[in-house]
Amino acid sequence: MNWLLKGGRVVDPAARLDAVRDVLVRDGKIVRVGESIPADNSRVLDLKGKVVAPGFIDMHVHLREPGREDEETMESGGAAAAAGGFTSIAVMPNTDPWNDSQSVTEYIVSQARSRCPVNVYPIGCVSKQGKGEELAEIGDMVKSGIVAISDDGHPVASAHLMRMALEYTRIFGIPVIDHCEERSLSCGGVMHEGFHSTLLGLKGAPAASEEILVARDLILAEMTGGRIHIAHLSTRRSLEKVREAKARGIAVTCEVTPHHFSLTDAAVAESHYDTNTKMNPPLREESDRQAMLQGLADGTVDAIASDHAPHNRIEKEMEFDQAPFGILGLETSVSLALDRLFHAGLLDLTRLVGLYTTSPARILGLERGTLAAGVPADITVLDLEKSVSVDQGGFRSKSRNAPYQGWKLRGAPVLTMVGGRIAFDGRS
Ligand SMILES: [Zn+2]
Ligand SMILES: [Zn+2]
Repeated sequence: MNWLLKGGRVVDPAARLDAVRDVLVRDGKIVRVGESIPADNSRVLDLKGKVVAPGFIDMHVHLREPGREDEETMESGGAAAAAGGFTSIAVMPNTDPWNDSQSVTEYIVSQARSRCPVNVYPIGCVSKQGKGEELAEIGDMVKSGIVAISDDGHPVASAHLMRMALEYTRIFGIPVIDHCEERSLSCGGVMHEGFHSTLLGLKGAPAASEEILVARDLILAEMTGGRIHIAHLSTRRSLEKVREAKARGIAVTCEVTPHHFSLTDAAVAESHYDTNTKMNPPLREESDRQAMLQGLADGTVDAIASDHAPHNRIEKEMEFDQAPFGILGLETSVSLALDRLFHAGLLDLTRLVGLYTTSPARILGLERGTLAAGVPADITVLDLEKSVSVDQGGFRSKSRNAPYQGWKLRGAPVLTMVGGRIAFDGRS
């Protein structure tokens, strides 16, 4: 199918373009972006008043396949991604089995190709089974398509192993995505350690447990010349450390989640111990949240990533201490960013789109995140004014664990095209 996307406001940070343009798509690829392109034999999509952007990339997603198909599958996670405005997702390796070998990587790639409506980029393990003992089959997994390595969910406790991972990945030019947590300090903590944890009588995980590992791994990145990407960075001091390291030329990037720029640890109290406010890293304090907003605005933060973590309802309905960490994010990420960052006047549209496109594409080495002629036609269309009332009952995800039920947000993705095929059309 050939398409002419007519009359939208095209925002493509890679091309430094923000103007009303037409976009011509043929045989799954972008042909060109220009003024008044004739339709010829293309089907016309009238996108007047909408924003046309390169396809959004969520670089931190947990699909539960293989192993926990009751929580999320290639189909349900892909549908959630498409409805959330994403055309590509990078998926973490903490499945069952872990993605620590070529055979698991190949399984994920082949299943995704036939069953997932968006592009799936697997992330391989740092260590075998994420145990932190010996390196996984990194070279073989790279051959089969991994774009990064991470033991996300488990911090790499051994500095020696992290050093080896950073040295080894230099050969392949891929980043190590780092879940920063000093477990001997955070262990047993179920929320942020501070005023609210004291008041609620819950065991806290201090901000320092994140900052210690951020500091250690920045030192190791400098020492090895390897490339480090800090996952779900959540504290003011972590951000300061990254800002400082970037200024000194260390190869570091970082991502922030929508929940860490939208919520604080006060939500645990206000929601009366709702386990949908339990995630790792935990929701932090207002000064941390303000730092995240600042980092997003000034460019210290490279990407917004959801850390989409589906959980079975019964498991999440346990008491706060017992429930698993993690919340959904694919279907609310873009509306939260539009409402809390763009409409709040903190970011302009080019910067916001860049956080979802140019930057994650650069970090993971993907030839996507732009509307340049010849690239696959991955396109995200936004309606900046669409009002959204979050209803998790209508989520495409198989799970329901999100803390935003009933939130009113301004702005939403309304159409997602993947390789020239419409994967989601929510225009009304
Ligand atoms: Zn993590
Ligand atoms: Zn994660």
